[in-house]
Amino acid sequence: MSVTLIDHMGTDESVARAAWVSTQRDDREATPEAVERLIRTLFAGDRVHAGPMGHPHLTICVECPIFVSREWFRHRTWSYSEISTRYVDMSGEAYLPAPEDVRAQVGKRISYQYEAVPPEIATTALDEMAGSYRRSHQDYQVLLSRGVAREVARNVLPLGTMTRFYGTVSLRNALAFVYLRNHPAALLEIRREAEALEALLHTLWPVTMRVWTDKGRPAL
Ligand SMILES: Cc1cc2nc3c(=O)[nH]c(=O)nc-3n(C[C@H](O)[C@H](O)[C@H](O)COP(=O)(O)OP(=O)(O)OC[C@H]3O[C@@H](n4cnc5c(N)ncnc54)[C@H](O)[C@@H]3O)c2cc1C
Repeated sequence: MSVTLIDHMGTDESVARAAWVSTQRDDREATPEAVERLIRTLFAGDRVHAGPMGHPHLTICVECPIFVSREWFRHRTWSYSEISTRYVDMSGEAYLPAPEDVRAQVGKRISYQYEAVPPEIATTALDEMAGSYRRSHQDYQVLLSRGVAREVARNVLPLGTMTRFYGTVSLRNALAFVYLRNHPAALLEIRREAEALEALLHTLWPVTMRVWTDKGRPAL
């Protein structure tokens, strides 16, 4: 699984200038102190003044299993372009968790907790998962070899099949994503990707991210 930066637009200064336009002061000198002061005012009230954060954008390339991509694609404020399983042979890699990530679901419905299973159970589970992937990938290849189109043969592929997509989003909506998905309640695998995205946001918009963090990571 990976999250790679492809492209980006705008800086912390872009956030400040977009806010300054409301008082016709967007041509003012943007010293680092003035930019930080302005960004702190966006987070000062009981609700975040998030509009100016809608101007900077980034594009990332995400590699993840299909079951994780389904969660990404619920975030409608992103633009996505994904590998086509109609055109690409998908029988390559499939996701095998690290042994310590093979977990059991315990507790009550909706507020489940997840706990690592004993190591011997993890080893057996991973063997079974790898065997299942192997069998479905063989079935897929058999269907292709009989002349069945990829768009039909793909029906036998598992949710752990790796996919790859580009996602483009504003800083504002990237923060909304990170708020929801870099959170203990989120699926472990998407949480790891949200952590990687958050690290990228810190390199691209260090002031906005520092202030957001200082303010306790509020919802946008
Ligand atoms: C821990 C967790 C568990 C979840 N469990 C489930 C589950 O069991 N089943 C399930 O189906 N989903 C589940 N989800 C997905 C969740 O319901 C949301 O679909 C997902 O988090 C995207 O959030 P969003 O709608 O705020 O994001 P976006 O789609 O990016 O939207 C962001 C904001 O833009 C606005 N917006 C975007 N599109 C529209 C629109 N068409 N109309 C009006 N406003 C719009 C809304 O204000 C929205 O809040 C879960 C999410 C999390 C984080």
